[in-house]
Amino acid sequence: MTPRALFVLLVLSLAASAAGQTVYVVDLSEAASGWLLVEAEADCASTPCAWEMPVWSATYQVRDFAQYVAAWESVDSEGRPLRSQKTTPWRWETEDAQGSRMRVRYRVLADRSGPFGAYADPQMLSGNLSQILAYPRGGESAPARLRFASLAKGQSEALSLKRDEQGYAAESYYRLIDTPLLIGAFSEASFELAGKTFRVVAYGEGAAARLGALRKTARRLAKAAIELMDDAPFDQYLFVYIFSENDGGGMEYRNGTSIYGPSDCSDCNMASLTAHELFHLWNVKRIRPASMEPIDFTRPNPSPSLWFVEGVTSTYAGYIERAAGLISQTDLVGRLERIINQYRARPAALRQSARESSIDAWLERYPAYGREDLSVSYYLKGELIGHLLDLTIRAKSDNAHSLDDVMRRLNNDYARQGRFFEDDKAIERIASEIAGVDLGAVFEELVRTPAPIAWNRYLGYAGYHLEATRKTYVDLGLTLANPAGLGVIVSRVFPGGPAERAGFRRGDQILRIEGRRVTGGAYEASQRLERMLGREVEIHVEREALLRMLKLRPRKTEDTVYRLAEVEHPSPAQRRVRRGWLERKTQAASVSSSE
Ligand SMILES: [Zn+2]
Repeated sequence: MTPRALFVLLVLSLAASAAGQTVYVVDLSEAASGWLLVEAEADCASTPCAWEMPVWSATYQVRDFAQYVAAWESVDSEGRPLRSQKTTPWRWETEDAQGSRMRVRYRVLADRSGPFGAYADPQMLSGNLSQILAYPRGGESAPARLRFASLAKGQSEALSLKRDEQGYAAESYYRLIDTPLLIGAFSEASFELAGKTFRVVAYGEGAAARLGALRKTARRLAKAAIELMDDAPFDQYLFVYIFSENDGGGMEYRNGTSIYGPSDCSDCNMASLTAHELFHLWNVKRIRPASMEPIDFTRPNPSPSLWFVEGVTSTYAGYIERAAGLISQTDLVGRLERIINQYRARPAALRQSARESSIDAWLERYPAYGREDLSVSYYLKGELIGHLLDLTIRAKSDNAHSLDDVMRRLNNDYARQGRFFEDDKAIERIASEIAGVDLGAVFEELVRTPAPIAWNRYLGYAGYHLEATRKTYVDLGLTLANPAGLGVIVSRVFPGGPAERAGFRRGDQILRIEGRRVTGGAYEASQRLERMLGREVEIHVEREALLRMLKLRPRKTEDTVYRLAEVEHPSPAQRRVRRGWLERKTQAASVSSSE
């Protein structure tokens, strides 16, 4: 079938749609070649009528989804051609459709596998709808509908949207694209919890065999998270797991998550990623800073609070895993030690505050960003601040309260009232109220300035102090930057190290490690390389549009690392805080002082 003939069919199928809605049909008949055929109808809501592809969505990076769009056409509601022209790389305008309904048709390339883009092949369609669906300018808040056509035999659909016989429905374009997307022959299980339904789907090599364990892990994490938040603000939640030859990563949505893992996964239950993305259903999707609204898809939307919505979500991934019994007390201590060491290894930590680091997320796509003397990650600093605030609130309240109370207050006072919180000012005010003391100085030190952190004051609340030891670690001789959706890029090559000897240069894009495509983040890629200690690793890179193969030999080296050591004679109050932090419990009276 030619695209032209197909569009005629799509027009007919759209004809029954109601005015006031934006209606999409995504046709998969050419998915085998990576192309999707999209037809959309909407009221012309701007002058002139304009449609746009998001410049960014979900991930805090400019990704220009218009780069995947071809063969744009506009027609009136009878199917007669309208004159349309591109006026910016992401915008198409039509002069003569004012005040009426109109349709657009285009082809979109879905060739980006992984959590950040969209990907289609003969077996499946997955990823992020923001790469697929254009929106009518001025009509972003109109109700929207979506259905898929030309599915292959045996394919099913998994999205976290309400569905009826006319397809999926959402209250706006923003909500329509806020869903995991998987179409394919996947395995499926479900569970009920707190009166809500959780759907677990898994796709790819080994997925069917892993479904039972994935379901069990997801259930334990969901139970712990709902108990922590005392809230389950959804009817259904959807976990999508996709295993492939690529690296992993995750993307959060309002009522679901897409989690990607390598088919030769070491932790095939994907517990840490699941916990992080699950907690986002509150923190960022509902507990949302005022700086992130309203959304403007045509330009970067910087927020000074990414340290909280991303970094503290990572803190909570650990807390939920601990509460669910998936990690031990020792694991939790180990995680805090790891992030303290990563933080201390970045000279930029003393130059860039958590607020500034959050705003600079939009620069993460550039190779220079990853330099440890230029940026400190808002994930890293935020995860650290989460722990230090939890210890502080516990110490000031004699373990009667914790950061959990701050999360619940933000949820009750803002999210459930449909309000956005006033960034760090609101967090500071609520944390101070719960701790019973003014925490202004703590927020100045940790959030608003790059002041050195008084480690032993915070750790001392739990009867720990920081102790320097010598330790061996794996040296790659390079650092990788994490420009999600744009590839993993070498941000720094250290003189005399393994990477320099292998011929790496700053700006090289890592395409494959030992033949496997790199599609996740810099952290996952670094971890994989570190596991190849002593071996010669074949790495394919792209440099100035040319493919090169370089051979890296990771080596062992020695450095100072810091660990949490227990103070000699912890007081009962210190022991209560420590026990509370490790066991995720509050209430001083109920915690035994015996160790
Ligand atoms: Zn996140």
